[in-house]
Amino acid sequence: MNTVNHSVITVNNIEVHIDRKDIKNLHVGVYPPYGRVRIAAPLHIDDEAVRLAVISKLSWIKKQKDSFENQPRQSKREMVSGESHYFFGKRYLLNVIIGSSKHKIVKNHSKLELHVRANTSIENRQKVLNDWYREELKKEISKLIPKCEKLVNIKVNSWEIKKMKTKWGSCNIENKKILLNLELAKKSIENIEYIVVHELVHLMERHHNDNFKKLMDKFMPNWRERRDELNSGVLENY
Ligand SMILES: [Zn+2]
Repeated sequence: MNTVNHSVITVNNIEVHIDRKDIKNLHVGVYPPYGRVRIAAPLHIDDEAVRLAVISKLSWIKKQKDSFENQPRQSKREMVSGESHYFFGKRYLLNVIIGSSKHKIVKNHSKLELHVRANTSIENRQKVLNDWYREELKKEISKLIPKCEKLVNIKVNSWEIKKMKTKWGSCNIENKKILLNLELAKKSIENIEYIVVHELVHLMERHHNDNFKKLMDKFMPNWRERRDELNSGVLENY
């Protein structure tokens, strides 16, 4: 593996992620699901040269970004066999098994078996999966919370898993309570851990300021990589 170093610049209000690698040519990409702009640049090219490259491609980049922003964020799931679903950062194929037993999910190697009765609606199939995600995420977070509390040296009074539209997590500083998005069940443990540490650090620093970043650097030196991976949405490409 080549060593990669990562930096972020802003060009015309667009956040541009630059990865420098041992490559020959500069490559500009706009990625789903959120239209993230990423530049793969040769090691010798500086930020200013990247900025110029971005400016020269600005109209193309904007067009790409618009097309993602106008798309639904996730392709509509039909909850049928063969569909990809993610669990803790890994891709699984759904295998629908019609039977008369209780509705449930069984993880079987690279498959998620969805046991349902005949004629179960898409919504109810989705609910079976979401209930399972919630249970599994709860178990994982019960282990992560004490681990992260120790790391950051602060304790929460309570935590809860919630369906949230726009955030991975949030916290109530006064009540020392943190909320975690159910969608995290699809992400890797490292990325979930990043969110838990992020919310714990908020109990000491409300804003995403330099102090916040300093604390994150101290407790989780590779938090930027984890954050970028979490937000890259690469895993959401079916
Ligand atoms: Zn935050």
